[in-house]
Amino acid sequence: MTEIEDSLALAETPPEAGAVVPICPGVGWLRMPLPMSLDHINLWLLDDGDGWTLVDTGMGTPDVERVWEQHIATTLADKPIHRLLVTHMHPDHVGMAGWLADRFGLALEMTRGEYLLCRILVADTFQAPPPEAIRFYRNVGFDDKQIAFYVSKFGGFGRVVRRLPAAFKRLSDGQRLSIGGNTWEVVVGRGHSPEHACLFSPELNAVISGDQILPNISSNVSIWPTEPDADALGDWLTSCRELQTRLPEDVLVLPSHGQPFQGAHRRLQSLIRGHEHGLERLLTAMDEPRRVVDLLDALFKRSLPMGEHFFMACGECLAHLNYLLRQGQITRETDDDGAWWHQRING
Ligand SMILES: [Zn+2]
Repeated sequence: MTEIEDSLALAETPPEAGAVVPICPGVGWLRMPLPMSLDHINLWLLDDGDGWTLVDTGMGTPDVERVWEQHIATTLADKPIHRLLVTHMHPDHVGMAGWLADRFGLALEMTRGEYLLCRILVADTFQAPPPEAIRFYRNVGFDDKQIAFYVSKFGGFGRVVRRLPAAFKRLSDGQRLSIGGNTWEVVVGRGHSPEHACLFSPELNAVISGDQILPNISSNVSIWPTEPDADALGDWLTSCRELQTRLPEDVLVLPSHGQPFQGAHRRLQSLIRGHEHGLERLLTAMDEPRRVVDLLDALFKRSLPMGEHFFMACGECLAHLNYLLRQGQITRETDDDGAWWHQRING
């Protein structure tokens, strides 16, 4: 949620739906529509001789299926996709993976953490929310009306993720893939999702960064009901610092949203700084006991209406609070309704 101020966006025109823009040797850039305020995702086609390696797939919606059909009749008419990699389990990245795997007879390659969590979330679709999830949102400070809204939205994940293949091929941190004569090293990041794969090619000096490094917005770093005590922000900050050591500053960053850019280290530093400032604002606001829902204005500097962003905002606020709790900078008490109240430890 921070604006770009210190990285260099390339003045490339993004591809129209159904088109491919060459972005560096052997790498094609395409876009798929998203039905939300963030209205697109970037996908990457890597030239592998007699076929393409595709990285990420688009959300499992009829619109995206239509654009894929268009590509199959044009871009991919003479040269099919013969390898399928997915950076992480969010629906805009993995949504069409099952459909493409069926269509082209492909194995799905993902990290194990991403594949398994995705299968679990898809299995929850059309189920009732478990008591652990209700308890979690009581901890956050939801009232009855907000809980009812959550219940009405539960299990939506699988509606935009096509059925995943029941088997997968594992990507692991440090693994080197050979694609079209170039090496692509898997660099795993954490905090936005459990085991997010970036792909770095030293020969091309390019990195497919997924949602791990974005130019215009900061990636959502959230706590979710499946792991209330997770240290997602600690994981995220550690990953940002590690990426600064594993990637060159002048690497061409190919992000999932926005424009390709250079200035990876500066961008990562700005992301780290953004979270540090958020932690400071939260500490200032916790001179009296506060619930997660009371602290959203302090963290985001604006109020958020109920909806998809509200859940992400609560999850992100809680990620900051879990981090401060681990650092011994705040206390957490639970009241009779199950809500958590946080207060700064002075001294
Ligand atoms: Zn994501």
